[in-house]
Amino acid sequence: MARLELSNLHAEVAEGDEKILEGVNLEVESGEIHALMGPNGSGKSTTAKVVAGHPAYEVTEGEVLLHLEDDEFDGVEIDEDQRTWDLLDLEPNERAALGIFLGFQYPAEIEGVTMTNFLRTALNAKLEEREELFEEEDDEDETEEEDGFESSPMEGPADEGEIGVAEFQEILQEKMEQLDMDEKFAQRYLNAGFSGGEKKQNEVLQAAILEPSVAVLDEIDSGLDIDRLQDVSNGINALRDEQGTGILQITHYQRILDYVEPDHVHVMLDGQIAKSGGPELAEELEDKGYDWVREEVYGTA
Ligand code: ADP
Ligand code: MG
Ligand code: MG
Repeated sequence: MARLELSNLHAEVAEGDEKILEGVNLEVESGEIHALMGPNGSGKSTTAKVVAGHPAYEVTEGEVLLHLEDDEFDGVEIDEDQRTWDLLDLEPNERAALGIFLGFQYPAEIEGVTMTNFLRTALNAKLEEREELFEEEDDEDETEEEDGFESSPMEGPADEGEIGVAEFQEILQEKMEQLDMDEKFAQRYLNAGFSGGEKKQNEVLQAAILEPSVAVLDEIDSGLDIDRLQDVSNGINALRDEQGTGILQITHYQRILDYVEPDHVHVMLDGQIAKSGGPELAEELEDKGYDWVREEVYGTA
């Protein structure tokens, strides 16, 4: 169990002084589904990127904390003083190792890398980073062996503690069944020729493999036809139901929330969360747009 806590988060563009986030307060716990809605330009994507550690933004005030709520994390025993992490002090890959997943709106194409290899590399990188994080905190200065036989991360035999090709195949197969995905998918080259919908499904598959505590999905519903929307939604629900991932679902439209039912709905306006509620709030937004929230909050449209 983990809880991601944003408090009074202020952020601006790193190169410049344009303020974007002006005091965001939000908590997402493992197993919960939150929808973050709001008009274009209100700061939804910036919130996601700041949580992930995107260098384009500078945090000027507030906190982003991750609370690990058990005495173990991913099956590893942790100490009392390793329960709370100040994410703003950590690199993006360290945040990922602690279980924060950010799906990108448009994942990059990388030539010559199959999905399988990409995912195995990502998982091993996460596991290695996690080990280092908790070791560092433990103050166990283990010197790394230099035997000169470093294997290629993509092809070679597994290093000690790494998940090897065969073991990974089993993990992948299980996850793909969970997500009801076609096996052939994994053999394809990363994103090359993937349709918009397939890219979104890959995003969900990545999250299934990495088993994050909290996944931030930014407009994963954009440009999907109804069948794909349903597939992707089933996948998101499986992340929550099968591995207890907390979901922060950023969306402009209410439509996906018919399939991925949120526990909490938040409306972002001008860099703040202006209103929160249950699923009924999303329907109200669908009917009435965002202006009434603005009126309620500011007294004017
Ligand atoms: P949303 O995802 O809600 O549509 P964003 O978080 O992408 O909104 O953007 C919020 C505001 O911040 C917009 O006015 C946008 O133009 C501005 N903004 C975001 N990122 C940058 C950036 N890197 N440089 C300059 N302005 C930015
Ligand atoms: Mg600045
Ligand atoms: Mg956005």
